[in-house]
Amino acid sequence: MNFVLTEEQRMYGDLVKKFVRNEVLPSILKREAKHAFPEDLIAKLWEMGFINLSIPESIKGFEVDAITSSLIIQELSYGDTGISTSAMCNDLANVVIAQHGTNSQQEDFLRPFVDEPLLASFCLTEPGAGSDNSAMKTYIRKADNGTYLLNGEKCFITNASYASQFTVFCKTGKPSAQMMACVIIPAAEIKKAEISMQSTGGREMRLSSGGTIITGKPEDKLGQRLSNTAAVKFEDVVVDEQHVLGDRRLGFKYVVDVLDYARPMVAAIGVGLARRAFDVTLAYAKERKQFGQRLCDLPVARDTLVKMWKKVELADMALMKAAWKVQEHAEDRGVYASLAKNTAADAALFCANEGLHLHGGYGFMTEYEISKLARDAHVIDIYEGVREVQDMIIGRELV
Ligand SMILES: Cc1cc2nc3c(=O)[nH]c(=O)nc-3n(C[C@H](O)[C@H](O)[C@H](O)COP(=O)(O)OP(=O)(O)OC[C@H]3O[C@@H](n4cnc5c(N)ncnc54)[C@H](O)[C@@H]3O)c2cc1C
Repeated sequence: MNFVLTEEQRMYGDLVKKFVRNEVLPSILKREAKHAFPEDLIAKLWEMGFINLSIPESIKGFEVDAITSSLIIQELSYGDTGISTSAMCNDLANVVIAQHGTNSQQEDFLRPFVDEPLLASFCLTEPGAGSDNSAMKTYIRKADNGTYLLNGEKCFITNASYASQFTVFCKTGKPSAQMMACVIIPAAEIKKAEISMQSTGGREMRLSSGGTIITGKPEDKLGQRLSNTAAVKFEDVVVDEQHVLGDRRLGFKYVVDVLDYARPMVAAIGVGLARRAFDVTLAYAKERKQFGQRLCDLPVARDTLVKMWKKVELADMALMKAAWKVQEHAEDRGVYASLAKNTAADAALFCANEGLHLHGGYGFMTEYEISKLARDAHVIDIYEGVREVQDMIIGRELV
């Protein structure tokens, strides 16, 4: 066993680092204050091959291993976790196609992302079904001509206002069914749709194959203001049989497969943010003098810096172990994914909060990046399963 990255992994990490230093960090506070979706940066990331990390080479994708994905997302998150959340959401939505789609489904649903800088949405959460996604009510039912009709409402969906393709988890047959399916509303359909923009910033997409998708007003969020989040409603959307992934009774299994892959990626978001919070705080503590000394030389303040550093390094180790387990398809990868997610969320919250505290009153001012990091950190403990759900997964595995 060794902890040495391959030359390719180092190269990816260095390239993203450079991108973040030159293209993200210099304007991040201005961009964030405007709350404007960074389409230009997403397009650049696509050009450089830093999004769509799970699309197989067989269809000309840039698939990279889980450790490389973690490094890329971590470095991107060092710049901004809203941007990395939007970017990695493509893999959250698309990895299930790579995992469970037929060759022709992979070609139809993944190739468009190789050809153009498109965004995808992963639609699982509903107003009445958050941590408990089995309570979802969105469903497909068979129509007379052999196709399916999709109806229901999802909330908090990343990229929803910009998405060209939707991966939707839904009940099979009726809203109260036990079985869950996973269906794709493909980019080819959205491209042909008649789209009207609403004054709220929502979109109404009338599909030529039948039915309407309506995205709500983009949410005004506490943090990660450079990611887009909105509700999505499906009204009698016609779903061709070819657009149902795998077995339409195995959706729960597919969700688990996706989250086992994606939770280490959220951990990477947490580690990136925690490291940024530590770095900006250390730099500040080396500059700022009180009681005739630099803050970093005051013993209690230095102790806080040490605690921050330890949290970052431990979270990084948990992340790398989880990524390695995913890469090896280890049986117990899920439990390590949950461990990494919780450890990284804890590091992000601790470093952002303590970092803000070490900035004193300046940390409370929006012109200091640490105030943004403190706002951004909270959601890492929430999305892709709250802390308690990760502990539930770990507990279940232990006993
Ligand atoms: C910015 C953002 C982006 C998101 N992006 C997406 C997306 O792209 N796609 C998608 O499908 N979803 C997305 N989500 C939804 C996210 O995954 C859910 O918010 C999350 O799973 C929690 O669900 P909930 O908000 O309904 O909270 P609830 O499930 O209502 O939980 C509220 C609180 O109850 C407690 N709790 C819940 N369950 C348990 C338990 N078992 N034991 C003990 N306590 C518990 C916890 O303290 C928890 O924080 C996003 C959310 C946000 C905020």
